[in-house]
Amino acid sequence: MSESKARKRAPIKGEIDAVVIGAGFGGMYMLHKLRELGVSVQGFEAGDNVGGTWYWNRYPGARCDVPSLFYSYTWSEELQSEWRWSEKYAAQPEILRYANHVADRFDLRPLIAFETRVLSAHFDERSDRWRITTDRGDVLDCRWLVTATGCLSTPRAPAIPGVETFEGATYHTGAWPHEGVDFSGKRVAVIGTGSSGIQSIPQIARQAEHVTVFQRTPNFSIPARNTPLTEEDIETFRQNYPAYIAMVKGPGMGFTGGLEVPIPDEEAQRKRYDELWAIGGAGFLAAWGNLLTDINVNDRAASYVREKIADAVKDPKTAKALQPFDHPLGTKRICVDIDYFETYNRPNVALVNLRETPIEAITPTGVRTREETYEVDAIVFATGFDAMTGALLSIDIKGLGGVDLKDAWAEGPKAYLGLGVAGFPNMFLITGPGSPSVLSNMINSIEQHVEWVTDCVAYMREHHFSRIAVDSAAQEAWVEHVRRVADKTLFPRAASWYMGANIPGKPRVFMPYIGRGYRKKCEDVAAAGYEGFVLAKEPADADAAA
Ligand code: NAP
Repeated sequence: MSESKARKRAPIKGEIDAVVIGAGFGGMYMLHKLRELGVSVQGFEAGDNVGGTWYWNRYPGARCDVPSLFYSYTWSEELQSEWRWSEKYAAQPEILRYANHVADRFDLRPLIAFETRVLSAHFDERSDRWRITTDRGDVLDCRWLVTATGCLSTPRAPAIPGVETFEGATYHTGAWPHEGVDFSGKRVAVIGTGSSGIQSIPQIARQAEHVTVFQRTPNFSIPARNTPLTEEDIETFRQNYPAYIAMVKGPGMGFTGGLEVPIPDEEAQRKRYDELWAIGGAGFLAAWGNLLTDINVNDRAASYVREKIADAVKDPKTAKALQPFDHPLGTKRICVDIDYFETYNRPNVALVNLRETPIEAITPTGVRTREETYEVDAIVFATGFDAMTGALLSIDIKGLGGVDLKDAWAEGPKAYLGLGVAGFPNMFLITGPGSPSVLSNMINSIEQHVEWVTDCVAYMREHHFSRIAVDSAAQEAWVEHVRRVADKTLFPRAASWYMGANIPGKPRVFMPYIGRGYRKKCEDVAAAGYEGFVLAKEPADADAAA
């Protein structure tokens, strides 16, 4: 959306209690909770509507890989009972409708300035307040800054030589045109075979004259077995809801990795994989509690999935190229697909294995690899995101002493519990690095963080604190703990976006927290008067702690 098309409004100036950046599921709930607390709050959102990731990712086939009944807010019983999902895995338009319904149902829109990007956030240590500026000329001073900017919200297109010379249309799955794209009669190149590529390729192939998929690394994918939800499904979910909530609010936040479990013989293992394959979805990874920690267990499961790929794809060379080989199963985000591997049996789909013949350049009319030039009318970049840190670091954030967050995170993101950063007082991250975030059901993690931040703000108001600052020793200890826990798993063996490995030059740090007991840890920290944080009434008291 160009600036000229943006809705006109007067700049917002003055003082307010809190600013929330982002109006996806994190931002919306944060706005609701802070308003409920009686805190004055302003939200800023780059898009012209709510929905965050579901607002931007409108590519064909975009669908949640968490079952819809679980990908729902749990904080409002009315909302829970009045909303009805139509499918096991909701498609993007339905999830966006849900986000819009929430915004209307809870009257959140008046709190949000849309089509507005936050440019800078600078902390003023004399007043313990943040000064926020935006690309619409807004200048707001606030006590609390909450970044709900999303973990996968900064699309990344690789710098392939000649890309700017291409004369056809180019698209990124993470910034898809709102009006949609008609690929009928078109020859389309899709670059990238992560979740976005795997979801969109079957849909594009149904419409386009021809699709050439450029794959650098094959990924594991499990069939979704998507179905419409029946009344019976919904009733069963309702009956089990209290148990589900107990599990969500339990110490593990639903993550069951790292358990030592006895693994049965080959035949029994196969039976279990057959059952899970028939059910479909990411639950395949829950086959055994140590599937993500024991390479022998993982190897067997990975071989099973590779066999399934070989069964699905008729051309043996294509099947071989589609079989993942360079990372353990589940250590890159597992994909959940509808007819992905079968799509390669279509006569109008071809796979180019970039491991054998890398892309050299994009020309005005196509994609040139070392061996061949592929003439295409459109290129779809399904090339992912600058995950976990990209959105935050695109804002000029300066904390105590004018230190830039980019410098503070030069060796990789450091955050205490993924909630706060040493040197950046009164700033809260929703699902920041060092929290379970992308390894958990995001909605559940968002709710937990929003509720923790709300309680913290309430506590500060009650006790007249003007500053909460992360203690740098507590932060170091947490970062080290996050690393140690990750090192006990197979995750660091993959060059994944969890590790920052998809961005040239980005420090390789395993960013999400994979351990158990995270919710309990956050609760204990709060119960102990915000252990690991330093609270201050006067700015000078807290300076030393940062
Ligand atoms: P991604 O997983 O990072 O995949 C990007 C793909 O682009 C990879 O195949 C990568 O290959 C390829 N690529 C990048 N640069 C390239 C280059 N220069 N030349 C050729 N290929 C290149 O990104 P994504 O598919 O957008 O998914 C990101 C995450 O978003 C997912 O893991 C998931 O968490 C989330 N997501 C979820 C859903 C869902 O809920 N269903 C759907 C979409 C996305 P390499 O592996 O070789 O780098």
